[in-house]
Amino acid sequence: MNIGLKLSRRNFMKTVAAMGATAFLTAFKADIVKALTDVKDYWHICWINGASCSGCTISFAQIAEPDLIQVLTEITVGTSGLPIALPDYMETIHPASGTLAESLKERWAEGQQGKRIMVVEGSIQDPGWCLIANKDFREHVRETAETADAIVAVGQCATYGGIPSAKPNPTNARGLKDYLTEIGINKPVINLPLCPVNGEHVLLTLAAVMINAPVELDEHGRPKAFFGTNMHDELCPYRPYYDRGIFITVPGEGEGCRYKIGCKGPLTHTDCPSRKWVNHTSYCVEVGAPCIGCSEPGWPDRFSPFYKEIPGMPTLLGVDATTLGQGLLAATAAGIVVHGVKRAATGKKKEEKKEEV
Ligand code: SF4
Ligand code: SF4
Repeated sequence: MNIGLKLSRRNFMKTVAAMGATAFLTAFKADIVKALTDVKDYWHICWINGASCSGCTISFAQIAEPDLIQVLTEITVGTSGLPIALPDYMETIHPASGTLAESLKERWAEGQQGKRIMVVEGSIQDPGWCLIANKDFREHVRETAETADAIVAVGQCATYGGIPSAKPNPTNARGLKDYLTEIGINKPVINLPLCPVNGEHVLLTLAAVMINAPVELDEHGRPKAFFGTNMHDELCPYRPYYDRGIFITVPGEGEGCRYKIGCKGPLTHTDCPSRKWVNHTSYCVEVGAPCIGCSEPGWPDRFSPFYKEIPGMPTLLGVDATTLGQGLLAATAAGIVVHGVKRAATGKKKEEKKEEV
């Protein structure tokens, strides 16, 4: 199948990675629409919510380019005439309620027609903490996962546990993949973290699944197209300030890198600086706040306290980033620090991997 003239299915996510999600959507919306018209089976979506604030649903509903109206009216799948993202069941914003809503979920799980994508928002807790229609959320997850053709976890809570899993984690909240492994369901899960998820990430991932485009995942189950770059090393527009030792010390005030107010960009892999939020207006760091690392496993505990400098940030011969910026060692030393930061980030990831094994 070809997506338009230039973009093959195989290249779909690679091109997303190269261009960034936003630019890709702008340039190739028509191609995605065209590719989706060739899809034979309509993909049915079941979007369920566990321990969450429903912010990911809101974030998806506020998708800007294309906006939700375009998603629902212009991007249809195959000959169905139905939009790419009209879930058969969606806990928060579908019109049905009560037993009718539950019967829609059951019909989806029976899967009489078409293929099925399970979307999960929110973390999974121990029995008794989350009941929906008088049934434990874990049961809903199991039944839905057993019959799903593709599984997507949206937001930090569904991917890695998120806020509900913060210490002391009294409900034993965890991410979807961990729970499915626990109950012996070993299907692949595409993780789309961030708090909340970005709507463009969701739409592009659903499109990729539907046209059977390969989605290359990193070691934490995230599409490399969205989460394959280190924010501090590769994307942050404030990096020149870091290298010159110019920092702000009060959130939102002055010009400078946000490292001193706790920016966790050096440990964070995400395309936030190029994709941004709210119709591509801005993102955390740009409005004068630190990045608090919500794209990463182990968040929030591993990144707390949010507004303190990363402890153990590498120094060169005892010289910290601020001193470097005072012109003592200039560019060469800054380059060495960059590698130190990279090593720190990688080391952290390795440690984390060890813990997971
Ligand atoms: S510490 Fe944060 S604000 Fe400073 S350059 Fe790195 S990512 Fe950007
Ligand atoms: S900039 Fe950092 S804290 Fe903000 S959404 Fe992106 S990963 Fe999360």
